[in-house]
Amino acid sequence: MSENQRLRIAHLYPRLMNIYGDRGNIMALTRRARARGMDADVTELGAGDALAAGAFDLIFAGGAQDREQRRVADDLRTVKGDSLREAVEAGVVMLAVCGGYQLFGAHYTDATGAQLPGLGLFDIWTEHPGAGAARLVGNVVAELEPGDDGWEGGTLVGFENHGGRTMLGPGARPLARVRSGHGNNGRDGTEGVRYKNAFGTYLHGSLLPKNPRFADRLIALALARGGDVPDLAPLDDRLEQAAHDAALRLGGR
Ligand code: GLN
Repeated sequence: MSENQRLRIAHLYPRLMNIYGDRGNIMALTRRARARGMDADVTELGAGDALAAGAFDLIFAGGAQDREQRRVADDLRTVKGDSLREAVEAGVVMLAVCGGYQLFGAHYTDATGAQLPGLGLFDIWTEHPGAGAARLVGNVVAELEPGDDGWEGGTLVGFENHGGRTMLGPGARPLARVRSGHGNNGRDGTEGVRYKNAFGTYLHGSLLPKNPRFADRLIALALARGGDVPDLAPLDDRLEQAAHDAALRLGGR
């Protein structure tokens, strides 16, 4: 099998960071790759496991509550940070959801006011207003920002549940604009962030099974390895599309 038919996926902290079915993102990626005859292998990396720079085409991290995030923040800083930075700068595809997303920004101030330093991969920061503050919860419908290469984007649907409010710095561009739901902070209409081929989002659900076009976009970018983004053979997505449409209706769209 040629190298461009092989997808090497790293799943970060599968036990510490996996809420609202975030693992389903890995299942969607591998199923969609294998349905096209590609080889997709998944390496689970927990706290303490080193991440070899250059060993992966796509890196995924799910969400977690504040307690688990503290352990993960320590590990990111002391074990995986440098190679993650190297990978993202080299154009490796990364998807980080909610608690994972927050830790790839400059910092996350948790509900107790303690500040967890983040990796600073994204020009964002996140602050939880405190234990009594309303959480941003519910179904989200957002419009993906088009890609520089003419990719149209389309809608992204999912479920959010976070206390932290994420602000985008001047160097950050959002992943999407919310049509319904709260997104990054409930105020500026942005949802998630994109830097190079790294994407952060608040959307659980799982996200990728019901957003097949976005899932394919990640696979295509990963296979491109910085070169031309390949067109992927279409799959029978009737079920996935029905799930997407149901989520659009739940979001009032
Ligand atoms: N602990 C974070 C917050 O509440 C992230 C929660 C999550 O990943 N769902 O903001």
